[in-house]
Amino acid sequence: MTEIIVIGGGWAGCGAALAARKAGANVTILEKTDMLLGCGLVGGIIRNNGRFTAAEEAIALGAGELFHIADSVARHKNVDFPGHKHATLYDVTKIEPKVREFLEGMGINIKFKSRAMDVKVRDNTIQGIVLANEEIIEGDEFIETTGSSGPMGNCLKHGNGCSMCIQRCPAYGPRVSISKKAGVEDLVGKRSVDTYGAMSGSCKLNKDTLGENIKRQLDEKGVVVVKIPEEYIKREKISMKVCQQYALEEYAANIILLDTGYAKFMTPFFPLEDLRKIKGFESARFEDPYAASKGNSIRYMSMAPRDDYMQVLGLNNLFCAGEKSGPFVGHTEAICTGILAGHNSVRKALNMELVKLPRTLAIGDIIAYVNEQLKAEHGLYKRFTFAGSTYFERMKQLGLYETSPEVIKERVAKLGLTGFFNENLAIKQEKVVGMYNNRF
Ligand SMILES: Cc1cc2nc3c(=O)[nH]c(=O)nc-3n(C[C@H](O)[C@H](O)[C@H](O)COP(=O)(O)OP(=O)(O)OC[C@H]3O[C@@H](n4cnc5c(N)ncnc54)[C@H](O)[C@@H]3O)c2cc1C
Repeated sequence: MTEIIVIGGGWAGCGAALAARKAGANVTILEKTDMLLGCGLVGGIIRNNGRFTAAEEAIALGAGELFHIADSVARHKNVDFPGHKHATLYDVTKIEPKVREFLEGMGINIKFKSRAMDVKVRDNTIQGIVLANEEIIEGDEFIETTGSSGPMGNCLKHGNGCSMCIQRCPAYGPRVSISKKAGVEDLVGKRSVDTYGAMSGSCKLNKDTLGENIKRQLDEKGVVVVKIPEEYIKREKISMKVCQQYALEEYAANIILLDTGYAKFMTPFFPLEDLRKIKGFESARFEDPYAASKGNSIRYMSMAPRDDYMQVLGLNNLFCAGEKSGPFVGHTEAICTGILAGHNSVRKALNMELVKLPRTLAIGDIIAYVNEQLKAEHGLYKRFTFAGSTYFERMKQLGLYETSPEVIKERVAKLGLTGFFNENLAIKQEKVVGMYNNRF
C-alpha cells in the first residue's frame, strides 16, 4: 500500500493526512511536540469573511471533516466583530483531542515527539526522514507541513522576543526546513528590505484574570469591545502584525476580545502595564505567548517553492501545504492547501495525473494566485487570507465570495466535483484525469 509521510501535525498536516488517507494510502504524521494543531492551538477564528466560502467549498468537495469538528466545538457561531462577519470561534481548549481521536479513528498513525531533523535523498527523491532519535521513516511520498517558523533564536534575531510558547520550541527542539535539507532553497518572507519574517499580534489572555462583567459578556456574546483611553492607544503597532485583515483603526482604538475558551486579545503588542490601567483588566495576564506585550510568533521564515498541485519544485516526491507552501495566514488556508497536497501525493504515488482545483473556486484561485504573487515584485512582503485584506477584496471582485452553502454546493456540483476528495484512488485508479484538467 502507498505510504505517505506527513511532517508536521498542524492544521495543514491534519488536512493533508486526512485527504491522503481517504484517497487510500497508509498515512503517518510525524509531529515534534505532544499535540496536534500547532498554531491552531492559539487561534480559533474560522468562517470569518471569505473563510466561510472556503470552508463550504471544502465541505462540498468532500473534505469537510475538519471544519465539522471545529464547528462541533464552537463556543460561538455567526459572530460579527470589526471588519469581520459570520465568524465561528472554536474552543482552543477542546479541539485538539477531538481532531486526534478522529484522525486515529481513520487509521492515521500519529507519531508524537518525533522531530524530523534531516532527509535521505537520492536523485532528487526523498528516501526517508531522519528523526532526532536517528530513526529513519521511509515512504513513497512526503508532505511537509512544518509551518514557517525558523529555528529557535530567530524570535530574538528578527522578532520582538518570543519563541512561540504554544509550540514549546525550547522543549521539543527547533523546526527544520525539510525541503531545504533536501536541497531546495527556502523562500523567506520580509517585513521591510532588511527585516525578515512576520509576526502575529493576537494572543490569549487568561479569562479568569478579567473582570466579571467582561467574562460574562464574552461567555454570552463571544465578543467584547472596550474603548482604549487615548493616552494608551498605539497605532504604530497595528502594522507590525502579519494578519492585515486586523490592521484596522478599530483594533488600535479598542480592546477587542473574542471568546475561544481563552480571551483572544486582538489588539497587538499592548503593554501589560497599560492594559492593567483599564477597568476590568486590572489583574489581566497573558496566557500565551507570555511575551505578548512585546513579541509574538515570528513566521514566514521558511517557505518552499511549489506548483499549483502543491508539489515542491525540484524534488520528485515532496509536497507541501499551509504556511510552508506560501504566505498563507489561517487555519482554513492551511486545511484547504493540505487537502490538495494530501490528495495529490496519493495520485503521484499511484502514477495518476495530478489535479489542480479550478480558479472558479476560492480554494483553487488562492492556491494559484499566491504562487503568482510570490513571483511578482515585492511578493515576499505579502500575506494572503480568505478573511481580509487584498485576497478577500479579490474574492469579492471575482464573485467568489458567497455565504450561501446551497449556492456553493451548486457551484461545486456544476464543476462535477461534488465529493471529489471522498474517492478512494487506490480502489478506483481512475484513468481519465487528463480530461478533468483540460476543462480548466
Ligand atoms: C498567535 C496566533 C494567532 C492566530 N490566530 C488565528 C485565528 O484565530 N484564525 C486563523 O485562521 N489563523 C490564525 N493564526 C494563523 C494560523 O494559526 C496559521 O496560519 C495556521 O494554523 C498554520 O498552520 P500550519 O499547519 O501551516 O503550520 P503550524 O500551525 O505552524 O504547524 C506546524 C506543525 O509542524 C510541527 N513541526 C515543525 N517542525 C517540525 C519537525 N521538524 N518535525 C516534526 N514536526 C514539526 C509543529 O510542531 C507544528 O505542530 C494565528 C497564528 C498565531 C501565531
